[in-house]
Amino acid sequence: MDALPTLSFTPAVGDLAFTAQQRSLLSLAHELGREKFAPRAAEWDKTATFPFANYEDLRGAGLLALCVPQSHGGLGADYATYMMVAAEIGRFCGATALTYNMHICSTMWTGVLADGIAMTDAQRAEHARRRELHFKRVVKDGAVYAQPFSEGSAAAAGRAPFGTTARKVEGGWVVNGRKIFASLSGAADYYGVLCTEDKGDQHPDARDTLYLAVPATSEGLAISGEWDPLGMRGTVSRNLTFKEVFVSDDEQLMPRGVYFMGAQTWPAMFFTLAPTYLGQANAAYDFTVSYLRGEVPGEPPVKRRMYPTKQIAVAQMRIQLEAMKSLFTRAILEAGPNPSKDARMRLYAAHYSVMEGANDIARLAIRTCGGQSMMKHLPLERIYRDSRCGSLMLPWTAELVLDRMGRETLYEPGEKDE
Ligand SMILES: Cc1cc2nc3c(=O)[nH]c(=O)nc-3n(C[C@H](O)[C@H](O)[C@H](O)COP(=O)(O)OP(=O)(O)OC[C@H]3O[C@@H](n4cnc5c(N)ncnc54)[C@H](O)[C@@H]3O)c2cc1C
Repeated sequence: MDALPTLSFTPAVGDLAFTAQQRSLLSLAHELGREKFAPRAAEWDKTATFPFANYEDLRGAGLLALCVPQSHGGLGADYATYMMVAAEIGRFCGATALTYNMHICSTMWTGVLADGIAMTDAQRAEHARRRELHFKRVVKDGAVYAQPFSEGSAAAAGRAPFGTTARKVEGGWVVNGRKIFASLSGAADYYGVLCTEDKGDQHPDARDTLYLAVPATSEGLAISGEWDPLGMRGTVSRNLTFKEVFVSDDEQLMPRGVYFMGAQTWPAMFFTLAPTYLGQANAAYDFTVSYLRGEVPGEPPVKRRMYPTKQIAVAQMRIQLEAMKSLFTRAILEAGPNPSKDARMRLYAAHYSVMEGANDIARLAIRTCGGQSMMKHLPLERIYRDSRCGSLMLPWTAELVLDRMGRETLYEPGEKDE
């Protein structure tokens, strides 16, 4: 029997047999979210500005180092624990949770994920040395990392090499190219850029993908473009251009070729975008229940729960939410390198269900609560807009997940039709 005290709330991932560390991290995330992030969320959304104050709180709570191994001074959270914590944050501020994902991935990919990727002894030694510097920046200096991969080409979908290139020079790399949708632009201390090694032979190859940290202060790095989107406005995902940007060898976040191996070995690395939206689905559901009970703070205490149509809609939302949580938790608990075909299909199904389902629940929430619920002073219309953005994220957009599932179900690796 689990002798630990029960939590005073049901986490966004549901009521599971949590470890002591998970309980304490979930409580911390829930309290920060409820007390600090939720009251500020409307302002970031309205002004399309980055949630700096929330990052101060995350830094103060040690949560920037959530996935840095304990041996390097971090909290040493594993993949599943990160996914639970991120969902809890997403419940209160979508933009904070989504940008936090970009930062955390830079520590998780170089940490627990890299540990599960095959490397030569020399690569392992090189990686161990370089990630020490990188982890130290996060733990000691509270540095924040962004994750700009998208380029507006087929690269972020995993169908072509990245057009941003890195040329080897004495002591480091020279980066040239352009990224779009760089969340945390202007807020990050380092941009974890995926680029293709320029070998001078005009034959770029995805196997030569490099993962480099470009310091925000680098000469030749510029941020441009407007940022006035539908939702997730606080992510401030503007464009980055790199013109002959020099970065030292120590900025290599993974040894040459290891990112490519990682993407093949650890498909769950792309599922880390989903918890933000599971959090949003919970938020839409929670709001609906309190609105229909007449318990939303600051609103007239009008009860709407007595109408059978409302009760049915709440039941439908709950069924969808429970299905989503079950798939999500199964997927995070079994995530690891080289999943079986069934586990991979479940992972895709979980991703699709969360990304499409979150907006569906938000849609039902607005329909059920009614006209007064979609006013700007309430969070529902923001949740509706934010949750629409999940299934647009590459490489696993809703369309591309369907595409993968169908193809990988009907064709075994290497199979072709004559
Ligand atoms: C709020 C927000 C924050 C973001 N933050 C980041 C970030 O921090 N870092 C980052 O790298 N990116 C980020 N992105 C970008 C995101 O991951 C996608 O790259 C972006 O949404 C793609 O937009 P696009 O118009 O270029 O899509 P396109 O590539 O034009 O694709 C349009 C649609 O076509 C389909 N499609 C695309 N490629 C193929 C293909 N090869 N085969 C079949 N169908 C295809 C997909 O379903 C896709 O939704 C963010 C996006 C949003 C909305």
